[in-house]
Amino acid sequence: MPINILFAAKPERWVTYEAPLRAALADVGISANLGTDIAPEEVDYIVYAPNSSVQDFTPYTRAKAVLNLWAGVEDVVGNKTLTQPLARMVDDGLSQGMVEWVTGHTLRHHLSIDTYIHGQDGVWRTNTPPLAYDRPVTMLGLGELGTACAQALTRLGFPVTGWSRSEKSIEGVTCLHGADGLRRALSTAEIVVLLLPLTSETENLLNAETLALLPRGAIILNPGRGPLIDDDALLAALDSGQIGHATLDVFRTEPLPKDHPYWAHPKVTVTPHCASETRPGTASRVIAENIRRGEAGEPFVHLVDRGSGY
Ligand code: NAP
Repeated sequence: MPINILFAAKPERWVTYEAPLRAALADVGISANLGTDIAPEEVDYIVYAPNSSVQDFTPYTRAKAVLNLWAGVEDVVGNKTLTQPLARMVDDGLSQGMVEWVTGHTLRHHLSIDTYIHGQDGVWRTNTPPLAYDRPVTMLGLGELGTACAQALTRLGFPVTGWSRSEKSIEGVTCLHGADGLRRALSTAEIVVLLLPLTSETENLLNAETLALLPRGAIILNPGRGPLIDDDALLAALDSGQIGHATLDVFRTEPLPKDHPYWAHPKVTVTPHCASETRPGTASRVIAENIRRGEAGEPFVHLVDRGSGY
C-alpha cells in the first residue's frame, strides 16, 4: 500500500521539489502518495520547511518522522507539538554551495580583491599579499558545513583552526573546543567564519568581549545565523577598526530591513541569505533515503538532538 507523504513548505518549493522527490522515492522503491494536501491523520511522513503553514503537529498522529528541508532547525526544534523524530538536511549540494561561498569570500579578503575593483584610477600600486600559508583562518563550528569548508581552505593552504562543542580530530585542522578553545581559536584568526547552529549557547557568541580577542583588523564571515553576533558590538568593533570587514549572509531579521546600518556601512558586505541553498536534486535523495529507512525499520539519519537544539 502506498504511504502518504505531506510536502509542507512554501508553494513555490513544491514546484521545484515535486519531480525530484517523486524520482528519488521511486529509486529507493517507495510507493507513495506525495502531495501538499493530505488529511493530517493519514500522513506518514512530513517533508518540512519551518516557514510552512504547518506549525501545530498535534493532528499528525500517524506521522513517523518530520524531515526538514533546511540544515538549520532553530525555528522548529523547540516546537512542543512536535513529538516525532526530527531529521535535518545534510546534503552534498548544500555543502558544496557553502564551500564555494566561504572560499570565495575568504579569497576576496585574502587577496584584497576590493582594492583593485575600487582602485581603477591609473595608479600602479604594488602590493604582494601573503600566501595562504600565512593567513590563519578560524572556523567556528566543525559540523557538516564547517568541516567541508575547513578542509577546502586547508587544501588551498590556509592554516585552519576549528572550534566545536565536542572534541574533534580532522586531518590538517587544529581542532579546539570549550571556552578556553574559543579564546585560543579567536586569538589567531585573521579571518573567522561562523558555521554554528543558533542555540541558547551560541546566541551572541561574538560579542564585545569575544570580538576583542581577535587580532586587530580581523575579517568576519557569517553564513551561520544572524543572532550568533551581537550586532551593536560588531558595529562598534567595525567603527573602532578592531574588525576590518564583515561579510554577512544571515541576520536577526530577514530580509534585512532597508534602514539597517549594515546596508550602508563601508566595512560590511550584505549577501541575502544565499550562501547555500538546499538543492532539490540531492536533497530529495536524502529525504527518500530516510523514508526508505523508516519503512525498513532502520534508524533515521541526521536526527536532531532535541536537548542540544541542533
Ligand atoms: P552541524 O553539522 O549540526 O554542525 C554544527 C557545529 O557547531 C558542530 O561542530 C557543533 O559541535 C558546533 N556547535 C554547536 N553548538 C556549539 C557550542 N555551543 N559550542 C561550540 N560548538 C558548537 O551543522 P551544519 O550542517 O554544519 O550547519 C551549520 C549551520 O549553518 C546551520 O545550523 C545553519 O544555521 C547554517 N546554514 C546556513 C546556510 C546559509 O545559506 N547561510 C545554509 C545552510 C546552513 P559538535 O560537532 O561538537 O556537535
